[in-house]
Amino acid sequence: MQLRYSFRVYPSAGQRMARAFGCARVVFNDALRARESARAAGLPFVSSGELSKQLTASKKTPERAWLAEVSSVVLQQSLRDLDTAYKNFFDGLKGKRPKMGAPRFKSRKDKRQSVRFTANAGWKITAGGKLRLPKVGDLAVKWSRSLPSVPSTVTVVKHSAGRYFASFVVETDSEMLPATDNVVGIDLGLTHFAILSDGTKIDSPRFLRRAEKKLKKAQQDLSRKAKGSKNRAKARIKVARAHAQTADARREFHHQLSTKIIRENQAVAVEDLAVKGLARTRLAKSVHDAGWSAFTAMLEYKAALYGRTFHRIGRFEPTSQVCSACGVKDGPKPLHIRTWTCGACGAHLDRDINAAVNVAKAAGLAVSACGARIRPGLVPAQREETGTHPKASRAPGSQAGIPVL
Ligand SMILES: [Zn+2]
Repeated sequence: MQLRYSFRVYPSAGQRMARAFGCARVVFNDALRARESARAAGLPFVSSGELSKQLTASKKTPERAWLAEVSSVVLQQSLRDLDTAYKNFFDGLKGKRPKMGAPRFKSRKDKRQSVRFTANAGWKITAGGKLRLPKVGDLAVKWSRSLPSVPSTVTVVKHSAGRYFASFVVETDSEMLPATDNVVGIDLGLTHFAILSDGTKIDSPRFLRRAEKKLKKAQQDLSRKAKGSKNRAKARIKVARAHAQTADARREFHHQLSTKIIRENQAVAVEDLAVKGLARTRLAKSVHDAGWSAFTAMLEYKAALYGRTFHRIGRFEPTSQVCSACGVKDGPKPLHIRTWTCGACGAHLDRDINAAVNVAKAAGLAVSACGARIRPGLVPAQREETGTHPKASRAPGSQAGIPVL
């Protein structure tokens, strides 16, 4: 299977990274314009082959001659990106995936800029551990862990906070973990980040909440600065940096928790989120902040990597309407009802844990419903039980190198 490994890189001033980003953007926009004009004129869709020919021809014109100063692979990959954007757009229209907008023109002000070098580009990692990119030069890399095998592709990404990352695609074999009898259902809730069918309730760890607090403060500072002022510009950079740190902390939390769950269980079941649907409601903020889809994606690839089973159950399974002890369906309950007693069997149930048990059962996993019953003196999980460590909140970018898919 393919995994992605990200590392912080530091292009030096003299390097031609900016030009590579610029050329990739111009090629993307030229190709998008060609397709848009054809559509406006009622002409057929311009094929990928035709766009490629147009690119080659444009390099011979004085207006676009400078495109020859970057690797042609980068430019070809930019055309690929446009094709992918169109494919996603068309698939959305056909109902094959959630709907999304038509491809848009890229701007130099975009928050994320990227260029991709495939094996054909002849990029390499030097003996001294630098990343050598054709027509760019040698970039210093902060190697936070070693790559399991030789990567085929590298994407260099620049974020709005002015940080650069090299993201390598690596082919790895799955490594089987010793088998276990444990299975688990997970409910991704609003009161907690996640609730397991064994009754464990997991909240965001302290290092993530601290990063979120810092971000909130930076945003407040920004809102108080006068428009157009120098201080406002400085505050904006601080917000961007705090955003990046929060994203790093969140990813670290997701990695720690998903690894722990996959190690401890032979099979894992989660509810399909249909996050896009939920996001339209007033729950939008918490849904996005919780980053559930990123988390479940990690569970899925780690299950594949370590020989575990991953189940995603249908989104319309009535997980809060059914008693996990006796299976009687006694109808929907408003969100404020957190516990209730089953009228059929008399079990006293916790809403979230009941849902987690039902998720496991819907996936055909044999879990005990005992966890869903409220036990006297049930204490909320300690922060440390979330599998995190205070030291995990390290310098920005230090999480780089953990596979992110
Ligand atoms: Zn019951």
